[in-house]
Amino acid sequence: MYADIIIDITNEKLDKIFQYTIPQRLKGKLEVGTEVLVPFGKGNKEIRGYVVGFSEIPGYDPARIKEILEVPKESVGIETRLVALAAWMKESYGGTMIQALKTVLPIKKKEREREKKALVLLVSREEGEEKLLWYQKKNQKARARLLEALLLSPRLDYDLAREKLNITRPVVRALEEAGLIRIESVRVYRNPLQAGGEEERKIAYTEEQEAAIRRFSQDYDRGLRRTYLVYGVTGSGKTEVYMAMIRKVVESGRQAIVLIPEIALTWQTVLRFQRLFGDRVSILNSRMSAGERYDQMQRAKKGEIDVMIGPRSALFTPFPKLGLIVIDEEHEGSYKSEQVPRYHARETAVERARLEGAGVVLGSATPSLEAFYRCGTGEYVLLRLPSRAGSAALPHVYVSDMREELKKGNRSIFSDRLRELMEDRLRKGQQAMLFINRRGYAGFVSCRSCGHVIKCPHCDVSLSSHRGGRLVCHYCGYERPEARTCPECGSPHIGGFKAGTQQIEEMVKREFPGARVLRMDADTTRRKDGHEKILSAFGDGEADILVGTQMIVKGHDFPNVTLVGVLAADMSLYSDDYRSAERTFQLLTQAAGRAGRGGGGGEVVIQTYSPDHYSIETAARQDYEAFYEEEIRYRELMGYPPAAHLLAVLLAGEDEEKLAAASSYLKEFAARLGSSGQFAVIGPASPYVGKVSDVYRKILYLKCEKYGMLVKAKDRMEQYIELNRGFRDIRIQFDFDPVHS
Ligand code: ADP
Ligand code: ZN
Ligand code: ZN
Repeated sequence: MYADIIIDITNEKLDKIFQYTIPQRLKGKLEVGTEVLVPFGKGNKEIRGYVVGFSEIPGYDPARIKEILEVPKESVGIETRLVALAAWMKESYGGTMIQALKTVLPIKKKEREREKKALVLLVSREEGEEKLLWYQKKNQKARARLLEALLLSPRLDYDLAREKLNITRPVVRALEEAGLIRIESVRVYRNPLQAGGEEERKIAYTEEQEAAIRRFSQDYDRGLRRTYLVYGVTGSGKTEVYMAMIRKVVESGRQAIVLIPEIALTWQTVLRFQRLFGDRVSILNSRMSAGERYDQMQRAKKGEIDVMIGPRSALFTPFPKLGLIVIDEEHEGSYKSEQVPRYHARETAVERARLEGAGVVLGSATPSLEAFYRCGTGEYVLLRLPSRAGSAALPHVYVSDMREELKKGNRSIFSDRLRELMEDRLRKGQQAMLFINRRGYAGFVSCRSCGHVIKCPHCDVSLSSHRGGRLVCHYCGYERPEARTCPECGSPHIGGFKAGTQQIEEMVKREFPGARVLRMDADTTRRKDGHEKILSAFGDGEADILVGTQMIVKGHDFPNVTLVGVLAADMSLYSDDYRSAERTFQLLTQAAGRAGRGGGGGEVVIQTYSPDHYSIETAARQDYEAFYEEEIRYRELMGYPPAAHLLAVLLAGEDEEKLAAASSYLKEFAARLGSSGQFAVIGPASPYVGKVSDVYRKILYLKCEKYGMLVKAKDRMEQYIELNRGFRDIRIQFDFDPVHS
């Protein structure tokens, strides 16, 4: 019997199985996924690898097959079940098997386990509330914040509370010394349904929530494991629905993974899960140390927790009996990995669930075209939550046509409507958020007088302005000279679009001198916790206006925000890819969803040069289905996903000429492969950042209705590349159904 090993070297040529014999002392100790040390190559260098299978028949002369050396002491190994998932990922997204294996193994080596600490409330609710008022009166915000959280959930994970509530050690100590709390070290298994406070806080589900939960539960009881899409407006109670479904699964002795984009993973959300599942819920995030991550994964493996919450990589949590994967905000671009293998968490979750007999629940207020399309084909089950839970009404949305403002002589960045409403909120002491849509690049060229945008005649995406005065299509490479006047109306007010958060902050300060302004963007959140600090300061009422990029529109609940202004709504509308309308609709709808969360209804102003564009019009009406109908027609017409599939082939190299030659050879090869009409090849084009630190880039696209056909084309191209000397110094990556974000 031989062990089939994938060695830990990322190199396409070594991306195959190597057989090794198993020494007597390791017999019975190896399983699929075990990490091993093996001699490799001429010099018998010691290299790590993973067992991916066992075989009886030697692939070559048995005398030359070497023996495994040992299982490294600190090795973690990959769960056997996840090895099959890795194989599927390699197959579906490209890259080598070792890259796929490392993706499903988020922890590389053993770490010392730490004790898990909890904060426990010691006083009664009345006493706690009295003390809370006192802290609030003395303006001791951090203490108040911690105490408030403990009044909601009398037992909190220590690390979680510190990180998510932005609490320092002295604050914890102060509450401890005041006799309000105790710090406990836990190594005990707790019953989840005792740990939480759910028993006392029974909410009456709306009829729609009830129906969604019932559908899931009935299927689950009958052993049906399907993929569901919970499509519900913001605030419709999706999270409550997930929690009920998870509870169902946990009660049946299985575990659940909840994926939430990191940016939307706020302490409010974590707290809600903690209230229901107590210590049996854990969280992962990118800022955790290797040790912390290791601890979380070990707890999951040993069955000490039932629910893991985290961003994309939490998908690979090694639960012994996975029952459910929830993907909240499933439309988010961050669910697509930017590293090889460039997997999408949605598809990968569906595959993991299939392999392990689990269900999948996707949720969004603005579902991805993919998810909604698959509800139409019957692949997913659609569960609708059409109205907001509780009393909150949907906000009122105004659209300000900035071309009209220009005609009126208003050259400010604020329309008259937005300025008036902002003044009104400042007078009333309510808060406003100004969202600057900076998704996509400032590369497109548009007319300020008529709103016309210059597009590629072949691909129907916006052309991007490149240095040297050329306008370029990022799909097919079409070029034309820069326009001096608008080809549509002749106006000279044509050019690129510029709006930075910092400039806007300054303009806000100039126009509203009395207002207190906070800014949230990549700059102000670079520091650890910067994010949470700004949000909690705004939540505490330390500012009247929050200015920011798309970061501010995700999942935060500020009851005092009654106005949201969207500046430069068009920015994402004309980014250079086929998803720009979808992304715009999502961002506008989410931004609008931030207003009036506290009841009372809110107002939203969308400023745009294209008020008639369907994605702006439907977002203003908050009508996803009308948007979907328009958008799917465009995708079908142009052959873009989900109506068809797209494979991007990214080529990079230091030698510009060699790269150009290689990409046109590859294009010819691909075109020959698809010549009998199986697929179309477009490009090569230069991406926006054509050259980054002395590396040139080119992209080719293959378009096809059948995903499998593209996978085959990728395999053939890989063979061609390997045999062809012209590709020697060129790096090539494949990206299936790319998602720019
Ligand atoms: P979503 O995840 O769809 O944005 P949430 O689950 O966060 O919605 O619910 C929004 C708010 O409404 C939360 O404060 C939640 O506690 C509350 N809520 C949800 N369902 C109900 C219900 N059936 N009755 C009362 N309040 C509810
Ligand atoms: Zn014009
Ligand atoms: Zn084009």
